[in-house]
Amino acid sequence: MNKLSKFSLLALFISLSLPIYSKGPKYIFFFIGDGMGFGHVEATRLFLDETKSSENLLFLDFPIVTHAVTQSADHRITDSAAAATALATGSKTANYTVGMDSSRTYALTPISKQLKKTGRQIGIITTATIDHATPAGFYATQPDRNLYYQIGKQAAESGFDFFGGASLLKPVNNNNPQDIDLYTYFRKMGYTICNDFKNYDKSAKNGKIVLLYDTLGTKHIPYEIDRKSGTLSLKELTQTCINRFMNNPKQGFFMMIEGGTIDWAAHSNDAATMIQETIGFNESIKVAYDFYLKHPKETLIIVTADHETGGIGLGIKDSNLPISLLQKQKVSEENLSNILYQLKERKSSPSWEDAKEILKKNLGLWEYIPVSYSEEAELMRIFDASFISKRAKDITNLYSTVGPLTNAAISLINQKAHIGWTSNNHTGAVVPVYVIGAEQGQFSGRLDNTDIPNTIRKITGIK
Ligand SMILES: [Zn+2]
Repeated sequence: MNKLSKFSLLALFISLSLPIYSKGPKYIFFFIGDGMGFGHVEATRLFLDETKSSENLLFLDFPIVTHAVTQSADHRITDSAAAATALATGSKTANYTVGMDSSRTYALTPISKQLKKTGRQIGIITTATIDHATPAGFYATQPDRNLYYQIGKQAAESGFDFFGGASLLKPVNNNNPQDIDLYTYFRKMGYTICNDFKNYDKSAKNGKIVLLYDTLGTKHIPYEIDRKSGTLSLKELTQTCINRFMNNPKQGFFMMIEGGTIDWAAHSNDAATMIQETIGFNESIKVAYDFYLKHPKETLIIVTADHETGGIGLGIKDSNLPISLLQKQKVSEENLSNILYQLKERKSSPSWEDAKEILKKNLGLWEYIPVSYSEEAELMRIFDASFISKRAKDITNLYSTVGPLTNAAISLINQKAHIGWTSNNHTGAVVPVYVIGAEQGQFSGRLDNTDIPNTIRKITGIK
């Protein structure tokens, strides 16, 4: 081998073993509040103000505050898969499509994969399952968001450094049950799977990690309103990921952190649960902000949403907004429904007084929130139809099925707080964008959701 070819081989070896030179912020946090429109944020701010909470929504004070348009390639109202694809790849696609063009023929490249090539570590975190539409947009290419097994498989093949969330929805391929189960597959691909966040670093000293609430297919980590202290939260997932990455900071990191269940509570038109989810989301942003304070020149934090859910309205009759009443709600709609189901199972013929006691204790109705004679008569009618004659059917929203009495009682407490909802689905409203940190000025002005990843590309020198 002559000197020249030895030299070119050496140059090739160096270029392959070194990350591509990357400019721009070394540490990037991309927060997505699923379904979190301006109304959700303002409801949460007003709730905190009215209840004289010491908590404040930190991102409201970020220097860049603007909005983004969310429509997908084929609908004015996007779903989370098309929105995630837009936010991850910078290209619009059709609803229900993950990481592919709208004709579902070719794959789009997410910034997360490109940033991985710059040497940054990649973390994907959510309150939902890690194979759900929003996280999937950052690593998967599938024609349908419901292909959970295939999506989960692509997570294992991504080579990303950290996955955190509730569980995997479909670890077994139901069409081909002999296919490898995804937990085995993740291990084969070099991941350690942990579902004990307190002790995770004992089992996963080095290498890639999947940190889950459980491996039983639980659909979301517990809602903040239901969560017992000491159980996994979005804040802890965020902190754990930062700690892990900073053990060996390398070329920095990119983290996508999704408040996935803001959307779920909004689909249920459950304002108290939605507000507590937004507060939990804010807690995880605080963790990133503390990091930013230590590395202000090298850190960028973006907070946005994929779409608005529920068409929330702040006010339904007069100039009053008694939103602090929602603090009397102690459980999510989902959990209240379970408690009422248990009553049905426990007693062969439960009385209205039994059910009323549950509503009093968990929603503060009668106790703190006056209920009129006609309102109680309506609740009793629904109780009879559901518990006695059993004619009334359960009510199904996108992510939940609840009993009719639960649905009516949650709707009543929303009305008492003067919170209105126009839909159980997504809406076409624009969503907020809050930015702080290195290159923050690049995000000003009216944005399309695709502008966000394309701007990240621009400032990090990715073509
Ligand atoms: Zn949704």
